[in-house]
Amino acid sequence: MQIPCRAREKELFECVAKAARQVGVPCYLIGGFVRDKLLNRGTKDMDIVCVGDGIALAHRVAALLGPAIKVNYFRNFGTAQVRYQDLDIEFVGARKESYSRDSRNPVVAPGSLEDDQLRRDFTINALAISLNEADYGQLIDPFNGVQDLEDKLIRTPLSPAQTFSDDPLRMMRAIRFASQLGFAILPETFQAIRENADRIRIISQERITDELNKIMLSAKPSVGLDLLYQAGILKIIFPQMTDLVGVEMVDGKGHKDNFYHTLQVIDNISRHTKDLWLRWAALLHDIGKPATKRFEEGHGWTFHGHDAVGGKMVPRIFTKLKLPQNEKMRLVRKLVELHLRPISLTKENITDSAIRRLLFDAGDDLEALMMLCEADITSKNRAKVKRYLENFEMVRERLKEVEESDRIRNWQPPVTGEMIMETFGLKPGRVVGELKNAIREAILDGEIPNSYEAAYQFMLQKARELDLTPVK
Ligand code: ATP
Repeated sequence: MQIPCRAREKELFECVAKAARQVGVPCYLIGGFVRDKLLNRGTKDMDIVCVGDGIALAHRVAALLGPAIKVNYFRNFGTAQVRYQDLDIEFVGARKESYSRDSRNPVVAPGSLEDDQLRRDFTINALAISLNEADYGQLIDPFNGVQDLEDKLIRTPLSPAQTFSDDPLRMMRAIRFASQLGFAILPETFQAIRENADRIRIISQERITDELNKIMLSAKPSVGLDLLYQAGILKIIFPQMTDLVGVEMVDGKGHKDNFYHTLQVIDNISRHTKDLWLRWAALLHDIGKPATKRFEEGHGWTFHGHDAVGGKMVPRIFTKLKLPQNEKMRLVRKLVELHLRPISLTKENITDSAIRRLLFDAGDDLEALMMLCEADITSKNRAKVKRYLENFEMVRERLKEVEESDRIRNWQPPVTGEMIMETFGLKPGRVVGELKNAIREAILDGEIPNSYEAAYQFMLQKARELDLTPVK
């Protein structure tokens, strides 16, 4: 069959076919590579399965490609990798797998192509294309995977209960493919996921988070996140998210369902950015709401302080999910903490100092913050949405004006801690911090101009109040 491929890929298929002939093993393109080619999606790794020794085949291919080509191989797993220009090719011998109930690790034995296709998780991932002389290019599709690609369906080749019980990671993979490809999961397949949800506990956190991130990076992450919720998996792997579910009523007054609101915010932001961490910020922006929810008589539902509480939850959630503990986490935390600030600036009579403070606190992440705030508008009322967006546009203008006149973004006060220590002969400590803060606050509040001279005079005045005298 004709599959759309680049000239370099075609060359490579022919080279693999030649090597396989020389080694005397039948070989096939298989799995995600074939699926993505048929869907006309971009492909990454090229997977080759051969009925025989995959490592020997990889060495033969490398020898044909040239002396500089190296083979990375893993004897234990019977797999090998060859990198050729920008293409990664993975080789494996066809295998048969059987599972026991207590382990994710199957017992593996050499097998036929059919055995190998049977061990694959979904019909759309079990497609193979022959690279053998007799039927070069022939599609081998024992489970009607092509039909499922056309029908946009995720279905398991074997009984779904068996498939998910054998390797529970496949439940997250099914949901991830549904989200990435915009496919539906066959109802009985989904039912088996619900029944086996609890077995996700035997999967390592790294693999779970890997799938979660792939869902977060899909065009409409709400699809995967809602399926995880419906399947009962989200409650196990990320209970803080399912705490957002539901609407409570008191005196006939309800609040919005914060889970579905959050899903909409992620979809909204995903239309504007592919940045995983901005998407995480959207996912976590209201995570502090359940802990801060109150019903106030005559006022209704409030979530005071959910921004600060949510910000504090971010490091704990990142640790549990084994997400990075670095500047990405700090960015997510900062965006969660600041996500209400631009809204507060849409009120009337906002002073320059309030604007200056946001410029200072958000620094380089101001654009990301504004993007999150705009994504946070989920009202169904078009007139309201329009008004909110116009308000944010006004905030953006004010931010621009104040920034142009004050240059406060990424700004450092003109008098540093070192200068304070030198002037008063102080060692690092509380008093230095107090003076430094006082100077910064005075400038941000517009009490004194943003200049060295004004800051220096202000420092001397503050120091007198603290009974400090300069040493020089
Ligand atoms: P992507 O490349 O988008 O991450 P993929 O599933 O195509 O997704 P891999 O995870 O590298 O890529 O898997 C390659 C192939 O191996 C799959 O297409 C599938 O046939 C098989 N496979 C991978 N993981 C499993 C699993 N847990 N159970 C059964 N088969 C699997």
